[in-house]
Amino acid sequence: MIEATLNEWKKWYAENRTEECRAIGNRREELDDDEVFIRLWNSQDGKPPEGGESFNSKAWKKPGSTPAPGLVIVTGKGEPPLILTNQKRREEAAEEVEKWQKQKANKARKPKKSDTDKNAADEKAKKEPPASRFLRKPYQWRCRDCGEEFDATKPKVHCKSNPRQRAEVSRDSTKWFNQFLEDVTWTYVPHSEISTGLIGVIEDEEADALAKKAGESLERILNETEMSAPKYFDLYNERTRYLRVSDLKEHSKFKRVINRIAGWRKAKQKPVSKAPLGVIEIGHAFDEFLEETFENILSEDWAKGERVRFDCGELGVSVGGTPDLNFKGVPVETKTLRVFPHEVPEDKNQKSIFKYKWKKNYAKQAALYLQGVENEFMLLLLISRESGTFTVVPVDDEAMAGMQENWVVWAEKYEKQLDDYKQLLAEE
Ligand SMILES: [Zn+2]
Repeated sequence: MIEATLNEWKKWYAENRTEECRAIGNRREELDDDEVFIRLWNSQDGKPPEGGESFNSKAWKKPGSTPAPGLVIVTGKGEPPLILTNQKRREEAAEEVEKWQKQKANKARKPKKSDTDKNAADEKAKKEPPASRFLRKPYQWRCRDCGEEFDATKPKVHCKSNPRQRAEVSRDSTKWFNQFLEDVTWTYVPHSEISTGLIGVIEDEEADALAKKAGESLERILNETEMSAPKYFDLYNERTRYLRVSDLKEHSKFKRVINRIAGWRKAKQKPVSKAPLGVIEIGHAFDEFLEETFENILSEDWAKGERVRFDCGELGVSVGGTPDLNFKGVPVETKTLRVFPHEVPEDKNQKSIFKYKWKKNYAKQAALYLQGVENEFMLLLLISRESGTFTVVPVDDEAMAGMQENWVVWAEKYEKQLDDYKQLLAEE
């Protein structure tokens, strides 16, 4: 088992190690049993299975009570810990490390520094979030406007906009891609088996017919297209100047961004110094791969997605985002996942993992995009990164109501931060 909900991991621990166990996350954090985690294998656990990730640093910040940044640990008396993480927590941890490095730099400016401080600093430096690599300078960039690629240590404005930073795809992930492309048959499957009972999925003959048409058309196109492994992928940089659609989905993300966005706007754009490896890198590189593939589609039915804006009344801000594609005038958002639940019926976890991702991410993203367009529904294109199987699901904005309730609470809780942000926008 590599990926499962926390609830499943606790069951696994009870069966394989000890029944008396508990899961520990950040300080005072109440963990959600539905949250999805991947397992990390440390030296005690032995060699990870194929697709699993090994972990070679310290799991605990304080043994038994505080996990290292980015980790959730299931532990029981006399048994080795089960080390868990996920992308969201890794991103949060990266932010924490950055904050800490800044504090360290400030401290270093003060005259005297004792050996105890230094040791503590060395200890902390070892607790970087796992599975990433440092990038070599100069960094690599691509202009958002004209597409020109260039090397530079610092971001240089090109065509009046900040460039996108990218990284070369690592050797391991390139190998993975070459194997994938050798084996893949792009296969469209109707969505009903996968999507029944999920929030936002609409039952409408016309919408279903359009989804089917899109799926069949794409199957033809993908199987006819000559494809190669991506060489680069865009690095994710959380530091944004504007709130984005993706910042409004979850409280932990919104909290991080709204607490820091004013600072980011005042500071210069900073390069990202590290790139992910493993599953996370493959996920990013897959997005790049699809983007390149879709850019070359020559078809009257398919077009690039258009930027949408949406005014969020509850928070008093306007956010923007761009769906990936457009099929016959209907926006299409693409999400990749490792496997579909029906592809691995023996792995019961995949059902709950899929449900969780749908509820927390896919349905919300679609609902948000729909606020910015005239359409009643849009299409979600879901692709399995292991098999190339994909489906197309028509989705409406049912997930809006739940988000609106959250925003009312956030508006009050982060009133000051929101005011600061709006003030900065007004001064632009
Ligand atoms: Zn340019």
